[in-house]
Amino acid sequence: MSACASSPLSAPRAPWLARLGEAMRRHRGVIIGLQWAVLVAYLVLVVTPAFLPLPAAGAHLWDDLTLFAQFAFWGIWWPFVLLSMLFMGRVWCGVLCPEGFISEQASRVGLGRPVPRWLKWGGWPFVAFIATTVYGQLVSVYEYAQAALVVLGGSTVAAIAVGLVYGRGKRVWCRHLCPVSGVFGLLARFAPVHFRTDRARWEAAGAPAVPVNCAPLVDLRRMESAAPCHMCGRCSGHRDAIQLSTRAPGAELARLDADDVDRWEVRLLVFGLIGTAIGAFQWSASPWFVRAKLALAEWLIERDHFALLGDDIPWWLLTHYPQANDVFTWLDGLMILAYIGTAAVVVGGWVSLWLQLAGRLLGTPRAHLRLAYALVPLAGIGLFLGLSGLTVTLLGAEGVAIPQLALVRAALLALGTAGSLWLLATLVGNSAGATRAARLAAMGAATIAVAGAVLPWVVMYFVW
Ligand code: SF4
Repeated sequence: MSACASSPLSAPRAPWLARLGEAMRRHRGVIIGLQWAVLVAYLVLVVTPAFLPLPAAGAHLWDDLTLFAQFAFWGIWWPFVLLSMLFMGRVWCGVLCPEGFISEQASRVGLGRPVPRWLKWGGWPFVAFIATTVYGQLVSVYEYAQAALVVLGGSTVAAIAVGLVYGRGKRVWCRHLCPVSGVFGLLARFAPVHFRTDRARWEAAGAPAVPVNCAPLVDLRRMESAAPCHMCGRCSGHRDAIQLSTRAPGAELARLDADDVDRWEVRLLVFGLIGTAIGAFQWSASPWFVRAKLALAEWLIERDHFALLGDDIPWWLLTHYPQANDVFTWLDGLMILAYIGTAAVVVGGWVSLWLQLAGRLLGTPRAHLRLAYALVPLAGIGLFLGLSGLTVTLLGAEGVAIPQLALVRAALLALGTAGSLWLLATLVGNSAGATRAARLAAMGAATIAVAGAVLPWVVMYFVW
């Protein structure tokens, strides 16, 4: 894949975008000022509500800081930052993210140690995403400010600690450990804007007078993917070879070859963004969950086993807010783990199996991994739909109804599915060496994989 060297820099497709990239580099002070402002607002919103009583009945977003913070974090920030990755790449990371910014600042004054090997393990983004998602469900992170402080604040403290120990003015946390960095990287691969390196111009340029500090440690010379780039703009114009540029949406994914794929990234996509996320968003709406829990509770009561029905559990382990009549038992916790785990294995396993078959039919190296990346649009839209459910709920509580909500959801799901099928068709079509019959069969198998990722959303929004 050669996403970066497709056209010479001397003829940019969007000169205004290249100028925007240059402006980002020149006006770095404005970006830093913005980052300090976001950091202060973030700290106020994540810390203060955790020490306030729960919102009173009848409180509103505009007169209760806790509700306002809940809406800001989970109703606006999280769903729309995710969505922005598909359209703008990781601009959030490089321009606004308070955690990346504070980690970088800490790294400027820290020990400056080199990044150890264990920290570079490719599975951290997968493990961190699954752990954060599941823990967030157990403590009801979207509903309660104390839980949000533990999850978001804990992550921020870890980001600062990593910054204080590793790197010199770098974002080692973002590059290797951030729970959403892998997700953002996957979605950014789809984005129609990116910083592009022209290798020919790079090689032709002499040694640069001022080296660029790329905080997330991107290899600027070989930069071909938008996944690791935080779009901070610092390298714009470097060696007269890098500029902010456009490309067709999904172009990077459609041109992936065997060397561009990463097994951990695919696991994160298939078992995390698709499987685990579906389980995490579905369990509270699932009639199967309720039926299974009631049946298990009855079974336990009939046998005088009451230990699992106990609810004297700290709120940082399982949701425990008696004042809001919201208390989880051990059984609730186990059932949530079981539901999310089952969804991850069944949905992720189904998608994985059919992609394996499609890959075998094509017969090209690592074909199933390449095909998996085609699921990025569907996974991104699915995540957005799941997360924006809280936006809809919070707005509904304020009397604001989203018109034609079912239609909007169906349209978004159809768009994500169409995007993934189009990418699959392109990747299958680009599989040199496979016969026409093999390509058709592979496309059929891949379509069944896509169906497995769409069906749970259809059931959740249009059947239950
Ligand atoms: S490659 Fe690095 S320096 Fe360049 S825009 Fe991306 S994050 Fe910033």
